Amino acid sequence: MASRLLWENIIPGCDPLDDGNPICFANGIFTGTPVPVGGKFGLASKSPLTGFVGDSLSGSWFSVALKRAGWDGVVLHNSCDSWTQLFIDDDRVQFNDATYLLGKGTFETEEAIRNKLGDDQIRSCTIGACGENLVRYANVTNDGRQAGRTGHGMIWGKKKLKAVSVRGTHGVKVFDPKTLNQLAYDISKSAQGKDTEKYRVYGTSTGLLNTNKLGVLPTRNFQEGVFEDAELVSGEYLDRHHKVKVIACAQCPIACEQMSLVKTGPFAGAMTGIEYESLFANSSNLGVSDIRAAIKLITIADHDGMDSVTMGVTIGWAMECFEKGVLKKEDFASEEHPEGLELHFGNGEAAVAVAEMIRDQVGIGKLLAQGTRIASETLDKERGTESYKWAVHTKGLESAGYDARSLKTFALGLATGTRGGCHNRSAAYDPDMKGETNRLTVDETRGRVASESEEYAAVYDTLPLCKFIRRSFTGKADRSGAWPAIAKLINATTGWNYDYDDVDLIGTRACTIKKAFNIREGWTEKDDDLPWRWKHDPFSKGPGAGTVVTDEELAYMKKLYYEAKGWTEEGLLPKELLIKLGMPDVAEEVGV
Ligand code: SF4
Repeated sequence: MASRLLWENIIPGCDPLDDGNPICFANGIFTGTPVPVGGKFGLASKSPLTGFVGDSLSGSWFSVALKRAGWDGVVLHNSCDSWTQLFIDDDRVQFNDATYLLGKGTFETEEAIRNKLGDDQIRSCTIGACGENLVRYANVTNDGRQAGRTGHGMIWGKKKLKAVSVRGTHGVKVFDPKTLNQLAYDISKSAQGKDTEKYRVYGTSTGLLNTNKLGVLPTRNFQEGVFEDAELVSGEYLDRHHKVKVIACAQCPIACEQMSLVKTGPFAGAMTGIEYESLFANSSNLGVSDIRAAIKLITIADHDGMDSVTMGVTIGWAMECFEKGVLKKEDFASEEHPEGLELHFGNGEAAVAVAEMIRDQVGIGKLLAQGTRIASETLDKERGTESYKWAVHTKGLESAGYDARSLKTFALGLATGTRGGCHNRSAAYDPDMKGETNRLTVDETRGRVASESEEYAAVYDTLPLCKFIRRSFTGKADRSGAWPAIAKLINATTGWNYDYDDVDLIGTRACTIKKAFNIREGWTEKDDDLPWRWKHDPFSKGPGAGTVVTDEELAYMKKLYYEAKGWTEEGLLPKELLIKLGMPDVAEEVGV
């Protein structure tokens, strides 16, 4: 929905920071109902990191408030002349002065708005200092959750929009409350069983030891896939030494977020929710074995509003630049560190100082605030270096925490993904890591597997339902287990008559509108590429040692993927296909 609103409301071809790039919110179909893990919203704009679709999901009470205020979606056009807080008070809309909020962190801003308006039920999406300072990968934050990855916070900062707040006081009507309550009750009960235990007890960080065992844990800026100190930065270690509380998104009976506190050392007092993706990027990927430094780094990102994955991967790139002599100690000088910093892998204190420089756009922080693609291109142009070879991004989005050199279906999913290097949208790491494919080789099934896993994920992301509930319907995570149960939920909520095929089509249509958006914004087949490192620079150790994804393998897999989608050889969308999918207006504009 948010991507569709973006398609309809953007001025095609505009710069992501121009007024023509709208901010599009869309609520989920289950928001405000008893359906578990359905309290999420989508946020879409053209991404300043990739220049393509920037679509994010966030689980939150903000979306419930918006629904209770009577809004399924909101589109914000243009920009403000001065710093503004938008307040949607049921069906009244106010544009308030936000000067008093400037400089405040994301959580602080939410609290300050509640205090000012005198109502602790008001929910807000906010930007922190990173959005105000135009860090290219700044986030929008709500209730401690992030609409992250693609730089929404920079767009909000450019528009001088500090916060969008909502007070919703109405009820939410559904078609068949009795049936929906029973279905929701059964799923909620099942969602507290064995299938979600690992998320409830350890959170997603419990995956870190497994990725390390498989040799795909990004280590020292994706140079290796095995980290010798993985135990010290694992979800299990976090649980024993730092976890203070477990919290949940709105409408969630699982509660996977592990609030973790640093109790000793220079970062004592740092506290935030820790996920696998944030953790890999700020521990193994930086060669950092002291999990306290990782918690501090993620706290800075969350409190000041920037994407912790892109921040960690960008600092990892800077560390490699330092180790290889492309960046020198004095390049990291600032008022606080006049002699500069020794940004070696493993130096957590220096990494924290650099994160603060990025947030404040101080010294080299200005360059690093652009993400690895722009930073490496700028540096290489200025110094005649080749640092692009260790900039690990696809389409400008820094890669997630599964090294794709030895996960070949996932590599295809990342290369072709409309959002860039995102594990949430591709999800093809799953068949590779579970052994459903031979992850070290390429065969004729990969196009189909990558396409199916992407469209499977898109069903969950479009409703939206958190994917962690996928085994709670019938115990089977596949389509045959979940789609009939999801159809029942949709029908009881809306009075529609959905079946298996209708649910399946949701994923295809969602992927298609995003692809169409990218084509209209100038996508060509060359954009479906992988980081240089994954194509030319194999691991020296671990189960994936010696493996890369060659250009020939990637070209072969892309051909299979375009075929599986029913696209042209160049990856374009045939008119007939778009019409068949019920998108004749899209066919008119980009169909071939
Ligand atoms: S399982 Fe975790 S991510 Fe999913 S809705 Fe619950 S708290 Fe949020």
